[in-house]
Amino acid sequence: MEQRSVLWSDLRWPELKELATPETIVIVPVASIEQHGPHLPVITDTMLAREVAKCAAEIVIEKTPVLVTECIWTGLSEHHMMIGGTFTLDFTTFLAVIRGVVQSLQRQGFERVFLMNAHGGNIAALQTVVEELTREFGMRLVTATYWTLGARALGAHLERQKGIRHACEAETSMMMAIAPDLVDPGRFDEAACPDPRDEADVDMDGSYRWISFADKTPSGALGDPRVSSADKGRLLLDTAARSVAAKLLDPTFWPGDRQRAEV
Ligand SMILES: [Zn+2]
Repeated sequence: MEQRSVLWSDLRWPELKELATPETIVIVPVASIEQHGPHLPVITDTMLAREVAKCAAEIVIEKTPVLVTECIWTGLSEHHMMIGGTFTLDFTTFLAVIRGVVQSLQRQGFERVFLMNAHGGNIAALQTVVEELTREFGMRLVTATYWTLGARALGAHLERQKGIRHACEAETSMMMAIAPDLVDPGRFDEAACPDPRDEADVDMDGSYRWISFADKTPSGALGDPRVSSADKGRLLLDTAARSVAAKLLDPTFWPGDRQRAEV
C-alpha cells in the first residue's frame, strides 16, 4: 500500500494499522510553548519541530516506512516562566505524558520510536525519560535534539553564532522561512543579546545550576536575529532535516536486542 502521508494525524485507522510493524519508524516531536523574545511567537519550537520532523520523514520514507505524530508541545520551561507567555510541566508529568504516548505506540505494534526534541529545557529530562521507558517497555527508543544531530553543518550557515541558541539568528531565520507573518523584524534590535558561548574566550566548565532566562537576557532572546533571513532559514531547515533523516536510516542509531536486554 502506498503511504498517503507521513503525518499520523492525516491517516485513517486502517492505514495506521497496516503501518504498525516493528520496522516502521515513529517520530514523536517534543517541543514547548515558551517566550521567544519580543519578535517571535511562543509557538516557535513547536512549529520548527513539526517542520523538521516532517521534512526528515519525507526523506526517510524513500527507504523505510515512517510516521510523524503530533508534536508534544507541553515541555519543561520553568526557566522561561519569569518572562511570560510560557507553559511548563513538572518532570513527573512530562514523563507521564510521554509514557502514555510511547505505550500507546507499543500497544499497537510499533517498536521504533524517535523522540525528536526541539527545546533546550527538555534535553536532560528526555535522556532520563528514555532510560526509564526503555527499561519499562523494552522498545527501540532514542532521543536527540535536532540541532545537535546536525550541529557542524548547521553552524556552517550561521554568521554570528556557533549553534542554535534561542530566538536567535537561526530560529528567527527558520521562522521567516515557514511563518513570516509571525515574525516582527521591527523588534530585532531590541531582541539582540549575545550568548556567552559565542564569545571567543568563554570556556564552559560543565557545572550546572538552575538559572532563569530573565537573568541571562533582558529581551528573552539569546543570539542576534538582525542577521536573519528566510533564505538562511530554508538552508537551516533543509540541513536539519537531512541530518535527522541520515541518523534515522543509520542502523547503529537504534539500540539492538543486546543493548535493550542490558538496560
Ligand atoms: Zn525552546
